[in-house]
Amino acid sequence: MRTRADIEKQQNASLAPFAMRASESRGRPVDDGDPPYRALFQRDRDRIIHCTAFRRLEYKTQVFVSVMEGDHYRNRLTHTMEVTQIARTIARALGLNEDLVEVLALAHDLGHGPFGHSGEDALNEVMQDYGGFNHNIQGLRIVDLFEQSYPDFHGLNLTYETREGFTKNLDPEQRAALGFALGEAPTLEVQLVEHADEIAYDTHDLEDSLVSKTISEEAVRDVAIWRETEEEVCAEYDLLSRDQRLRWRAVVRRLIAKQSGDLIAESEKRIAKRDIHTLRDVRERGKDLINFSADMTERKSALEKFLFKNFYKNPKVRRHTDRWQKRLQDLFLFYRANPNLVPEYVLNHPGLKQELPERIICDYVAGMTDRFAERMWKKFCSSAP
Ligand code: MG
Repeated sequence: MRTRADIEKQQNASLAPFAMRASESRGRPVDDGDPPYRALFQRDRDRIIHCTAFRRLEYKTQVFVSVMEGDHYRNRLTHTMEVTQIARTIARALGLNEDLVEVLALAHDLGHGPFGHSGEDALNEVMQDYGGFNHNIQGLRIVDLFEQSYPDFHGLNLTYETREGFTKNLDPEQRAALGFALGEAPTLEVQLVEHADEIAYDTHDLEDSLVSKTISEEAVRDVAIWRETEEEVCAEYDLLSRDQRLRWRAVVRRLIAKQSGDLIAESEKRIAKRDIHTLRDVRERGKDLINFSADMTERKSALEKFLFKNFYKNPKVRRHTDRWQKRLQDLFLFYRANPNLVPEYVLNHPGLKQELPERIICDYVAGMTDRFAERMWKKFCSSAP
């Protein structure tokens, strides 16, 4: 049998010198022993895959309200799988720690509430006087507090480096308040997952918008990177000019490859230019090492502006999410007035003893899937049968 030490040694031999190594980890909040044949971050990954919040991603909206719009579009779980796949590919190409990148990607959206960004806005609004709501901080609360699988501690007892993934968009004070070192750059693995997320949603949102007929193919040709990529693939394969679905797939595939390739090349350049050789170099002066080239950044930003205006703000997309923004607030207010209807395991959670009642109710509502929120809203807040 290959032991944990063998596996980590083998892993170290293939990692770039600036990658995060298991031996350099700051460890877990509680020492809970060493599994005989799993590397450090592999164990974190297993804990995420087996947790309840991960399974709930299947029934949480990415952009389209999944329970109402059809089964072919992305939900949070399939989005998460796409991010993970893209992130692992890039990590392997750059010699970064693939196990760490995998768990960071699998966990990156765990803190999202039901109904996508509208849900987050709704909860942030009702929580204004009680500290607000942020899906990254919520993700950390889930893995640190709510998930109850072990008799010795609350949460999943993940390593510092996995938990750090949830701090990527927080300001320094928030980071420090959560116990993370101030003034340090995130590992390259954390930086990478953020961009893999962008590559995934930019491309899959384009595909979902076309397939759902929310945006026409003529309209999307206004975006330079789409138009040029379409011309490229059609010049290579005659059939693509005649087969619309295959053409869209080919463009989306090529867009993922182009962005991933650009990210790898540009990041390598930055790492060399800034003379980065070790993890310590990364921590000390490694901010924004993993990134796209200026040209790709410009193209991506045009694409994102287009999606924002024509997809995320489209009445077809907004019709359910807008309605649910209000309904989630109804649910929050209902439970605040009737806390006895919040389940016992949430209300009397041993990790939440110091919390305001509003925070506990927000945690409960944020943990709901779209369909469970819908059921509870119908049961408690709707006069309709
Ligand atoms: Mg995401």
